[in-house]
Amino acid sequence: MKALVGVKRVIDFNVKPRVKADGSGVDLANVKMSMNPFDEIAVEAAVKLKEAGIVSEVVVVSLGVSACQEVLRTALAVGADRAILVECDELSGDTGLQPLTVAKALKAICDREQPQLVILGKQAIDDDAGQTGQMLAALAGFAQATFASKVVIADGEATVTREVDGGLQTIALKLPAVITTDLRLNTPRYATLPNIMKAKKKPLDVFKPGDLGLDLTPRVKTLKVVEPPKRKGGALVPDVPALVDRLRSEAKVIS
Ligand code: AMP
Repeated sequence: MKALVGVKRVIDFNVKPRVKADGSGVDLANVKMSMNPFDEIAVEAAVKLKEAGIVSEVVVVSLGVSACQEVLRTALAVGADRAILVECDELSGDTGLQPLTVAKALKAICDREQPQLVILGKQAIDDDAGQTGQMLAALAGFAQATFASKVVIADGEATVTREVDGGLQTIALKLPAVITTDLRLNTPRYATLPNIMKAKKKPLDVFKPGDLGLDLTPRVKTLKVVEPPKRKGGALVPDVPALVDRLRSEAKVIS
């Protein structure tokens, strides 16, 4: 069984994003970029399934600028077999790589590769959309299980435990299916130096959207990006009655 894993290149989670002075987006110049943390979990899940003899090949896919090859090489260094880049420099930035755009591209790759399992992150930490997996499942007609914290594959079926509000839900899916990873699914491994060297020789195919017959024109336009409002200073109150008084008179959260 083949597993396809989506990996997105995003601003590193340790970096505080800066908004461009003209409000047109987030400034990516000279900023450290890395693999989306939920996608590291997705790659780890696929590699573990390969080690368990359930998956035979792990193919990682990224959509974006040519520098996405770096995150693809990282995925190859932790155990993926092959990588595909759908290169679209013109779609980089805030407006271009929208979930529907990515889902359409991943659907085209699914048509070519015929995976039984697609593993994506539950969300990308730059757009926080949490939509791509659901859209891909709908476009491809695959079953879906989002926010997975446990995945068991047996007899052509996936049994997935999902993190939902108030607890855990376990569902069974017929394959092919899309699974999106939550934080507790696993702890991703680090790439070792010998594996980083070996990854340089693994296959990485580059396609342009036109090669896949895709029209990825964005449907949504970003009007403005602004920093969140600065937090107003807090205040120390001497006792509980003073706190209740302020909650009533200033915050107006109790009456
Ligand atoms: P989102 O719906 O944007 O929050 O993204 C959810 C997941 O879809 C991510 O964790 C990735 O697995 C996948 N994804 C989103 N954008 C891309 C991209 N440009 N390239 C590859 N995978 C992506």
